[in-house]
Amino acid sequence: DLQGSFELHNGVHMPYFGLGVYQSKDGSEVINAVQAALNHGYRHIDTAAIYHNEEGVGTGIKESNVDRRDIFLVSKVWNTDQGYDSTLKAFDASLERLGTDYLDLYLIHWPKGELSKETWKALERLYKEKHVRAIGVSNFLKHHLEDLLTSAEIVPMVNQMEFHPYLVQQDLVDFCKAQRIQYEAWSPLMQGNIFDLDIMKKMAAKYNKTIAQVVLRWDLQKGVVTIPKSSKKERIVANANIFDFELTEEDIQALDKLDRGKRFGPDPDNFDF
Ligand code: NAD
Repeated sequence: DLQGSFELHNGVHMPYFGLGVYQSKDGSEVINAVQAALNHGYRHIDTAAIYHNEEGVGTGIKESNVDRRDIFLVSKVWNTDQGYDSTLKAFDASLERLGTDYLDLYLIHWPKGELSKETWKALERLYKEKHVRAIGVSNFLKHHLEDLLTSAEIVPMVNQMEFHPYLVQQDLVDFCKAQRIQYEAWSPLMQGNIFDLDIMKKMAAKYNKTIAQVVLRWDLQKGVVTIPKSSKKERIVANANIFDFELTEEDIQALDKLDRGKRFGPDPDNFDF
C-alpha cells in the first residue's frame, strides 16, 4: 500500500512511494501539495536546499494532521555547500527552515570530485550523532560510488538517480543492489515526457490505469523507490493509486527494453557547477 516500504541496510524503513517537490514554489503551492499528499496517505516528502521551498514543506507538515515522526523527510546538501564544515552548517540551516530537529534521509545532491569525500564524512558524523536516520547520495554513477567507498566508513543507504524507461541503467541498479544501496528514481515521469509514448498509452489502456500509474508501478515492481512530483491535488491522489494492479513480467521487460540512455536532467559526469 501507499505506506509500504523498503528496508535500508541499517534497518530503517523507507516508504517506497513519496512526493517530489522540485519546482513546487515555496509558500501556498508547496504547502498545499504537501498537505494534499499527507492527507491522502503519503508519508515521504523529497525536498532539497536548492529547491528553495523547505520552509513551505515544514509548514505543510506542521499544519497537517500527520505526526512528524510518521513522515519520512528527505533533503539534500547543495553543491556549493559541499565540504565538511559547510555541510554541517547547511544541514542545520535545512533543519531550521524545515522546522524540525532531525531528518530521515540526507543526501549529497551531486558528486563533486574529492570534495564529496569530505561531505560524506560530515554526513557520517550527522548519522552517528543521530541527527539523521539514514544518509545517502544522489547522481552517483558506479565510478563515483566506487571512489567514495574507498574512504567511506558507512556505505550510503540510498542512491537517488534519474530513472525512467528511457534511462534504466540496469548495471548501476544491479551494482547498488549488490552493495545494499537502495535505488531511488527521480523524474520517474520523465518530467512529463512519458505521456507522449505510444507504448505507455497502450499499456495504460490494457490495465485500465493512467500512464503515470503504470510507470510508477513499474518502479515499485523493480524495487525502486519513486517520488513523482505534482502540485495538483487530483494528480497527487491519482499518482498514488497503484496498489490495485500488477504489471506482468513481460510488460516490465517491455518497459526495461525502452532504455536508450536518454537523460532529461544533467549528466553527473558533465554537470556544470
Ligand atoms: P517527474 O518525472 O516527477 O515529472 C513531473 C512533471 O509531471 C510535472 O510537470 C508534473 O506537472 C507532471 N505530472 C505529474 N503527475 C502527472 C499526471 N498524473 N498527469 C500528467 N502530468 C503529471 O519530474 P521531477 O519533478 O523532475 O522528479 C520528481 C522528483 O524527483 C522531484 O520533484 C525531486 O523531488 C526529485 N528530483 C531529484 C533530482 C536530483 O538531482 N536528486 C533531480 C530532479 C528531481
